[in-house]
Amino acid sequence: MRLVLLGPPGAGKGTQAQFVAAERRVPKISTGDIFRANVSRGTELGVAAKKYMDAGDLVPDEVTIEMVRDRLGEEDCAHGFLLDGFPRTVPQAEVLGEILTEHGHPPVDVVLELVVDDDEVVRRLSGRRTCRTCNRVWHVDFDPPEVDNVCDVDRGELYQRDDDREEVVRHRLDVYAEQTAPLVAYYAQRGVLVGLDATGPVDDVTLRAIDALRRFA
Ligand code: ADP
Ligand code: AMP
Repeated sequence: MRLVLLGPPGAGKGTQAQFVAAERRVPKISTGDIFRANVSRGTELGVAAKKYMDAGDLVPDEVTIEMVRDRLGEEDCAHGFLLDGFPRTVPQAEVLGEILTEHGHPPVDVVLELVVDDDEVVRRLSGRRTCRTCNRVWHVDFDPPEVDNVCDVDRGELYQRDDDREEVVRHRLDVYAEQTAPLVAYYAQRGVLVGLDATGPVDDVTLRAIDALRRFA
């Protein structure tokens, strides 16, 4: 299954991606995680991406698209994948369709849109903590780790993302509305969009997501 998770920052894409990808037995590909790994390693890609990420802007399409093209060409993507955070613009969606055609695959099978309102997004992002080593996301109130600032999974240190500061969050929501929200209509027209109520406890959202995907085999 070739699956895309769509939704504003803080909707819970990364949270759900880890469970849904495991259930569907496909690799989870998070463009945000790949960019952050490159920033912390100080690679050329990381240096190119950092100023956009810090400002809450999208990294330019040509940079992002080449990175995803390389990743989707890897062996583990041959039988499917789950994309978290890509595509985020109509040109990215167009190129994704082209990449899949080049690899002899049908276009994306399903786009799961996680629907939550802006106030909930701000609440979620202001308490988000991320593991420095495994990227698992936590929330100080809604999904706290057993020990403050320590990841339950691998005991890694948790940190707060720079772009989760309130003024950057507001800007990221504007960027989502302008550049990414048009993908809802784009994929609806292609008959692959499934809207999902992403409010309520994490486990409830996971069950709803898995249930929605059953219809797609
Ligand atoms: P995204 O990948 O869409 O930006 P995340 O998955 O990182 O969003 O989630 C943002 C924050 O919200 C995290 O701190 C996460 O623990 C929390 N969160 C995710 N899903 C829920 C939920 N259903 N209820 C409450 N908090 C949630
Ligand atoms: P995320 O972890 O998905 O919230 O992404 C963090 C940041 O990485 C975004 O605010 C962008 O700056 C950048 N980014 C991630 N995915 C993309 C994408 N598909 N296109 C452009 N920029 C992206």
